[in-house]
Amino acid sequence: MSIAANLGGITARLPPSVTLIAVSKTRPAEAVREALAAGQVHFGENYAQELRDKADEVGKGPIWHFIGSLQRNKVKYVVGRASLIHDVDSFALAEEIGKRSGDRPTGILVGVNMGESQKSGVAPAEALELCKAVMALPGVRLRGLMTIPPATDDPEGAAPCFAELADLAARGRADGLPLTELSMGMSHDWPVALRHGATMIRVGTAIFGARAPREPAT
Ligand SMILES: *Cc1c(COP(=O)(O)O)cnc(C)c1O
Repeated sequence: MSIAANLGGITARLPPSVTLIAVSKTRPAEAVREALAAGQVHFGENYAQELRDKADEVGKGPIWHFIGSLQRNKVKYVVGRASLIHDVDSFALAEEIGKRSGDRPTGILVGVNMGESQKSGVAPAEALELCKAVMALPGVRLRGLMTIPPATDDPEGAAPCFAELADLAARGRADGLPLTELSMGMSHDWPVALRHGATMIRVGTAIFGARAPREPAT
C-alpha cells in the first residue's frame, strides 16, 4: 500500500474534528513530502534534532508536533518549529518552553503516565496540579492532555487508560482548565482511542509502514 492509500484509509474513518498526526520519525524528508502531496498536514516527531533537521529540510507545508519526551537542553530545537509539544511532564520543562517562546507562546499538552513501563508523563493524581501551574506561564498555551498507554496485545487493553485520560480532562475542564485536546491512540489502537474521545491520534506504522530499529542515540 502507498502512503497516500494508507492515509486515505484512515482519514475516511475519522470525523473531521479529529486531527490525524502522521508520525514520520525515522522516515526521510521524502516520505513527508509524499504524505504532504496526498493532503496530509500534521506530522509528529519524537527526537528533537530529527524534528529540527526534517522541518528545515521540508520547509513550508507541514504543521509539526513534538510527541517524544523532551529534555530541557533540547527545547531550543523544538520551539519555533513545533506548533504543539505533546508530552510536557514537569513545570521546569514548561518553564523552559515558555522562556524560549518569548512573546509567541507554544502550545503544550501535559503528558500523563498511565503505567510503570512509561518513562515520561506525570502521575494522573498530579496532572491537574501541573496544568494549573503552567497556566501562569505566559510563553506556553495549555491545550490538553496526552498519554501513551502501556503496550498490550489486544488494542482494547488500552481502553481503561483512554477512559481515564478523558475523565481527567473532563474534571480539569469543570475546574476551568482549557483541556480541549486529547492526544491518544496510535496505529494499533486509534479506533479505541477515538471511541473514548481522542481529538488527536498519532499514527506512524499504519501510514509509513514498519520502522527499522533506531540507531542508538548520539
Ligand atoms: C512512534 C510513536 C507513535 C506512532 O506509533 P505507531 O505505532 O507507529 O503508530 C505515536 N506516539 C508516540 C509518542 C510515538 O513515539
